[in-house]
Amino acid sequence: MHISMASTNAYVQEQGLMKKAGEWLIKYGKNLFIVGGKTAWSKVSVVLEPSLKEYEIAYEVAIFAGESSYEEVDRLQKIVPHGVDLIVGVGGGKAIDAAKAVAAKLGIPYVAIPTVAGTCACVTPLSVMYTPDGVFIDFISHPQNSILTLVDGDIIADSPVSYMLSGIGDTLAKWYEGIVCARGHEDHVPTKLGLAAARICLETLTEYSEVAIKDMNAKTPSYAVQQITDTIFLSAGAVGGFGNQNTRACAAHGVHDGLTAVKETHQMMHGMKVAYGIIALLYIDKQPSEEIERVKSFYRKIGLPTSLLELGVKRKLTDEELSKIAHLALSPTSFMRFMPYPVSAAMITEAMKKTE
Ligand SMILES: [Zn+2]
Repeated sequence: MHISMASTNAYVQEQGLMKKAGEWLIKYGKNLFIVGGKTAWSKVSVVLEPSLKEYEIAYEVAIFAGESSYEEVDRLQKIVPHGVDLIVGVGGGKAIDAAKAVAAKLGIPYVAIPTVAGTCACVTPLSVMYTPDGVFIDFISHPQNSILTLVDGDIIADSPVSYMLSGIGDTLAKWYEGIVCARGHEDHVPTKLGLAAARICLETLTEYSEVAIKDMNAKTPSYAVQQITDTIFLSAGAVGGFGNQNTRACAAHGVHDGLTAVKETHQMMHGMKVAYGIIALLYIDKQPSEEIERVKSFYRKIGLPTSLLELGVKRKLTDEELSKIAHLALSPTSFMRFMPYPVSAAMITEAMKKTE
């Protein structure tokens, strides 16, 4: 069985969109429950609230506690007032994931308002779940996707550049992991659609990342920033949205999972570790050295890590530590299980040594 839940029902990206968000929201509901990240809501509320008032949309706001945990979803669910017809998640991936889990539990449609371009959470019907301390547990698949996604280009351009850089690393993996994961399923139509989206990710990131990072540093909502934002949200989401398990994450995310064994990498954002994992994946998959060099030179241009040192590990890891990473990368819940052939601990450690 293959389920495709390709994307959000409606996606709008525009500069200054929050000022007229009411015009869009009123098409879907009149009584909102907003789950807002603390920083995100402080920025968005200033422009969004006047628009909600203009369209006479009733709303209540709950500030998100910071982790997409089962406890937080329970807490939020209990305070949703009677009569709410739309749940709205405002913030990064975690706030949006918690909001969609609340919406799914209550059987109410939800709207995503992402304020950073770090993940494709706004267009995927999944919530990644953590403990209240931020340790990954699992993810929940929902029967519905977001009914509306509103992206304000001004708000994205005003967010820290590190989110976009991490989002670029994570989105680049859609291509490199997708083509490996899809092997043997190339004739399957939803998988083809997923791979076509993955190719668009690769091409757009290659063309616009460098300029977008410069513009983000200058807080300029340029065409390049817009291109990269749409890629991180819409194109990245469509890869798994169409291809589902055939174009899923595999070894780059598997190595990412393994790297959590090294304390120094904890401060690094998800997509930075995934970017490192892409290089390891290319070595595991024995891809040509020109291809690996091409990826590394792209990383150097935009500031993605090509070594553990650049991931904040300022020492040489022992063989014992490398083997710990490999074993963690091979744990049953790791994405490594989506590789099309068996991967051994030795293959992972060898790939990491080559990467170094
Ligand atoms: Zn990822």
